[in-house]
Amino acid sequence: MMNAQQIVLASRPKGLPTNDNFRTESITLPGLQNGEVLIKTKYFSVDPYMRGRMNYAKSYTPPYNVNAPIYGGGIGEIIESNSDNFKKGDVVRGNFPWATEVVIDAKPLMKIDTNIAPETYFLGILGMPGLTAYFGLLYIGKPNPMDTVVISGAAGAVGIVVGQIAKLKACRVVGIAGSEQKIKMLKNDFHFDEVINYKTNSDLNKAIKDACPKGVDIYFDNVGGTISDAVIANINFHARIVLCGQIALYNSAETPMGPRLQPILLTRSALMQGFIVGDFQNFFSEGIEQLAQWIKENKLWYKETIIEGFDKLPDAFLGLFSGKNIGKMIVKV
Ligand code: NAP
Repeated sequence: MMNAQQIVLASRPKGLPTNDNFRTESITLPGLQNGEVLIKTKYFSVDPYMRGRMNYAKSYTPPYNVNAPIYGGGIGEIIESNSDNFKKGDVVRGNFPWATEVVIDAKPLMKIDTNIAPETYFLGILGMPGLTAYFGLLYIGKPNPMDTVVISGAAGAVGIVVGQIAKLKACRVVGIAGSEQKIKMLKNDFHFDEVINYKTNSDLNKAIKDACPKGVDIYFDNVGGTISDAVIANINFHARIVLCGQIALYNSAETPMGPRLQPILLTRSALMQGFIVGDFQNFFSEGIEQLAQWIKENKLWYKETIIEGFDKLPDAFLGLFSGKNIGKMIVKV
């Protein structure tokens, strides 16, 4: 019998979540059944989509249950195995309950090869966010050389990869982010052509027009809201709008109203397409291989914000909504 700590959803948030929506508990883990493994969790990914799972609403992933643990992507080390596929000491990625140790079915786990990249990269650039950037930009955005690509949430886990892939495809890349530190990093370290601070810029429409003198060919939208209204006002004929995320709206209690965008889409023969990374599941191995290759060739770089301490999971998650992360937000257990 082993004891562990777990974090549960104590109540469903209304609007922006607070620490009161989470609770830490002590639990006793059950013994291993056939095909199960005991894992010591090492890192957890916190992701904006988790906010949607805190509501009781139909979506592409089921809601979390109140008084039950939050689940999310994680990396852990196997400390006991009752599965033929894994042995003690293996480092794996999986979907884990927020707990310090877990007993879990081994089938969906993926063994990690740390020769390719540091283990945390498998939660970021070589995980769900990297694949989201890869498929959203290449399969929906379909960049051509010299296209102007605008990315909101540009300094985050997905945005930072989108911008670099767009540069590899010889596009002009314009990022939008929320702090001077992020602006400097995107310009100096990631060589974005222009970066706009949406928090200090009082006329975003003009800022985008100035940064994109030839208009916007691809808009990779991670945030939605008024930032997107301003970008979409500047799209070109045959523009592609890749609807990846709408974090600016995730805490809205009511349906927010904005300008009617259909006339712009219509008169510019534009495409706006939403997607979930899982739509591309059959192509994941292609995406991982290509991303790993670019990392190996030093063509892609990554940033992470790693917060230490299992008990910091709620704070790290909440930090996504105030831009506390640069690159991928991760918690080290
Ligand atoms: P992230 O960008 O690493 O973190 C969230 C960032 O959003 C924050 O750092 C903050 O940066 C920005 N933000 C927060 N509230 C905002 C607001 N009200 N207005 C503008 N910006 C705001 O997150 P991520 O994991 O890369 O995800 C980015 C987006 O893609 C999210 O919307 C997520 O839901 C979505 N996503 C979609 C898929 C899919 O399959 N479609 C997969 C992964 C992620 P600033 O400092 O710049 O404000």
